[in-house]
Amino acid sequence: MTTPRFADRHIGPDAAAQRRMLETVGYDTVDDLMDAAIPEVIRWTGTLDLPPAATEDEVIAELRAVAARNTVAVSMIGLGYHGTHTPAVIRRNVLEDPAWYTAYTPYQPEISQGRLEALLNFQTMVTDLTGLTTANASMLDEGTAAAEAMTLARRASKATGDVYVVDADTLPQTIAVLATRAEPLGIEVRVLDLDTEPLPDRFFGLHLQYPGASGAVRDHAALVEAAHAAGALVTVAADLLALTLLRPPGEIGADIAAGTTQRFGVPMGFGGPHAGYLAVRAGLERMLPGRLVGVSRDAAGEPAYRLALQTREQHIRREKATSNICTAQVLLAVMAGMYAVYHGPDGLRSIATRVHQRAAALAAGLRTVDGVEVVHDVFFDTVLARVPGRAAEVVAAAERQGINLRLVDADHVGISCDETTTAEHVSTVWQVFGDVTGEPASAGTLPPALRRTGDFLTHPVFRSHHSETAMLRYLRRLADFDYALDRGMIPLGSCTMKLNATTEMEPVSWPEFANLHPFAPANQTAGYRDLVASLEGWLAEVTGYDAVSVQPNAGSQGELAGLLAIRAYHRDRGDTHRDVCLIPSSAHGTNAASAVMAGMRVVVVGCDVDGDVDLADLDRKIEAHRDNLAAIMVTYPSTHGVYEGGIAALCAKVHDAGGQVYVDGANLNALVGFAKPGRFGADVSHLNLHKTFCIPHGGGGPGVGPVAVRAHLAPYLPGDPLGGDDRPAVSAAHYGSAGILPIPWAYLRMMGPDGLRQATGTAVLAANYVAARLRGHYPVLYAGNKGLVAHECILDLRPLTKATGVSVDDVAKRLIDYGFHAPTMSFPVAGTLMVEPTESEDLTELDRFCDAMIAIRAEIDRVGSGEWPKGDNPLANAPHTAAMVGGDDWAHPYPRSVAAYPAGVDRRAKYWPPVRRIDGAYGDRNLVCACPPPEAFAD
Ligand SMILES: *Cc1c(COP(=O)(O)O)cnc(C)c1O
Repeated sequence: MTTPRFADRHIGPDAAAQRRMLETVGYDTVDDLMDAAIPEVIRWTGTLDLPPAATEDEVIAELRAVAARNTVAVSMIGLGYHGTHTPAVIRRNVLEDPAWYTAYTPYQPEISQGRLEALLNFQTMVTDLTGLTTANASMLDEGTAAAEAMTLARRASKATGDVYVVDADTLPQTIAVLATRAEPLGIEVRVLDLDTEPLPDRFFGLHLQYPGASGAVRDHAALVEAAHAAGALVTVAADLLALTLLRPPGEIGADIAAGTTQRFGVPMGFGGPHAGYLAVRAGLERMLPGRLVGVSRDAAGEPAYRLALQTREQHIRREKATSNICTAQVLLAVMAGMYAVYHGPDGLRSIATRVHQRAAALAAGLRTVDGVEVVHDVFFDTVLARVPGRAAEVVAAAERQGINLRLVDADHVGISCDETTTAEHVSTVWQVFGDVTGEPASAGTLPPALRRTGDFLTHPVFRSHHSETAMLRYLRRLADFDYALDRGMIPLGSCTMKLNATTEMEPVSWPEFANLHPFAPANQTAGYRDLVASLEGWLAEVTGYDAVSVQPNAGSQGELAGLLAIRAYHRDRGDTHRDVCLIPSSAHGTNAASAVMAGMRVVVVGCDVDGDVDLADLDRKIEAHRDNLAAIMVTYPSTHGVYEGGIAALCAKVHDAGGQVYVDGANLNALVGFAKPGRFGADVSHLNLHKTFCIPHGGGGPGVGPVAVRAHLAPYLPGDPLGGDDRPAVSAAHYGSAGILPIPWAYLRMMGPDGLRQATGTAVLAANYVAARLRGHYPVLYAGNKGLVAHECILDLRPLTKATGVSVDDVAKRLIDYGFHAPTMSFPVAGTLMVEPTESEDLTELDRFCDAMIAIRAEIDRVGSGEWPKGDNPLANAPHTAAMVGGDDWAHPYPRSVAAYPAGVDRRAKYWPPVRRIDGAYGDRNLVCACPPPEAFAD
């Protein structure tokens, strides 16, 4: 017996199924279909120059060899990344559990109550520990959270001037990200040593690190007061573990807190992914960027969670959006929140106390060593040692003992303790500094004035799940509330919810990938750097570009990085005035938001009746802005799921006017192996590795959004935040979310050139199959060549809504009763559903979906004919919960069986949503973004 090809496991429909699908669509072969669908001008007919497909076993062996070239040392570098014990129950039942990692962003709240509750725990944890009132869930890392805090401060501050003051004792990578994000917005980042330098006369905001990067814990109260007197807002970048012992930022008057939750059980992963956090005081919650979970109520008046307020703000506000963040770090936020649930307030306090005592012991010992001075008396976990002229030698000696310390400068060494630091580590560190003499006295060093006094994490959720049994069951209960890919298909257009293979996932939790500090010495990270280099090379081959950077940790960040490259390119050529970015009206909301963040002015280009970019309008807009044209940003295939024939002409027109072409590569699943954006006229793209290349969505993150460019833009790609060059830093770590790069690496390696091409062909076939089956029941809005769609199709509900009052919402919620996750709603066209089946769904599942949609169409007709009243029918009341169907009263004009078990639903495998339809507006009017008291759920 031969081992089956991985591609045959990844691709759902087998050869026989594909033949049946082709018959329905009307083509003989997938190649015929692709020839018909893809415009000649962009078609690429070569074979991808990638290694031939390897089996799952071979790839695991290869990755073991890559991992073996990484060295897991004891990390005492600190700087925002710390060793941590991931509780095994959380590792196995969250990080490694597809019920959590294959879920989508909780836009459909009725099927997302589990992860929404987990995120509410996260928000409650952050607000409690920071002493502020509202926290979001979540940010991409500490650096970008600090950058969002900076722009929030600018929006909210009444002070004039463009100066943002940053304390010199801030993490250096944070300063690099702030500088990148400030420059295009005309903000001046002024780094000051606030121990010695005064605040300037005019500034709109102040950033403080707490504890400082050097380890020092300072009383910031006076600075906060001075900043407020000047009309400025204050951000405190705080370490949440330290805050279990220290006075929280909210108590000293901070307006904003930002930071990372990495050390709450999330492995360092050579830089990511981890959840950043952002919290604000009362009065600023409506200005908070990113995703905010809130409590609302369902149709039965029961409490229910959903995303609140500005959650889709880029889509609603576009170029007026205040941030481009879309995919966040949900899976990691769930882990960090669960770490707090598992340990509880007492557990966290005792972890922090142990860490602090280790650091205190370390300092006490060092003070007895000849020639060593401990610089700061007050610290939490990090000791700064002064050893004039000897720092490099000390760091090298520690490295030989398997311990990484931080080389601050020629005279200073930083040593950070964390929950994994042992007494043995401490004595090894002593030895590399010299001889400890006498008995070091090690008391804690935190003066009473800086100590936290109030209680925190008082909600019962943080006090009820401390045994492993209780924790296991809590995780299972929440996971059971949710619908993820482990239950059935998630046909979300633009999101590419394909298989996240177990073999791709397994290496993520290997210690050689999980436990590396991003600033570890290069000789310890050879495996990682090889992995990144080969992945970047393969992605360049797939896209036809010359250079790739994996640093951006979401698609939105790739957009920003790409646009910054365009901006820098124009500036280097003296074209500082080129600042107009053309964006079609159908674009994803992040495009416009990113353009504004890159200092550009957005000019919208219309679409024609076929949904294509209106080339006549493009001509007009180019003419009007010819001298100032910086770029056009288009998605290909378009967000309408169509291969537009005009793409090559579009690229030529923009180039002729001196502009650059940005192709949003989120839809690359329709191109891989058949067309290359870098070859058909584009200059830069970002890719979404969490779409096309199998990183799971994690319930709303992590993601990786590499930016790919042609050679002329390569000098402007992101650089090392600690590199000291003038390359931009769009993430805090050089390789962004490096810890999940083994996933796309394994995918590419196991598919090989042929498998990748087959995946694309099958994805396009599946979308056209769904379109062909549903066209008679719902109009398919747009199509390209020969009436074909690309990898997704838009079903137009608007005529039905007009005739019957049944809305896209009703259909989306009714699909839950049928056991499905809804397609993308009202993007890119309001009142429509966009279906992307991907190559991974087999024919049985595709048919189950089509049958459900057809059955729903018949239900709509019964509403339309008046048989069922408009306000009381299976669609209007969907989704139906078990409590509703099993209740003693039933007064609806259709039977319970129609409510719960419509055609095609397997009664034994029924998915029951835990809540009825949620009233989002109610929650926005009555904003509650922390865990509600348990009484709220009492009957
Ligand atoms: C998903 C998507 C994005 C944004 O990517 P994130 O990773 O969510 O930031 C941008 N453009 C398009 C077309 C997308 O589908």
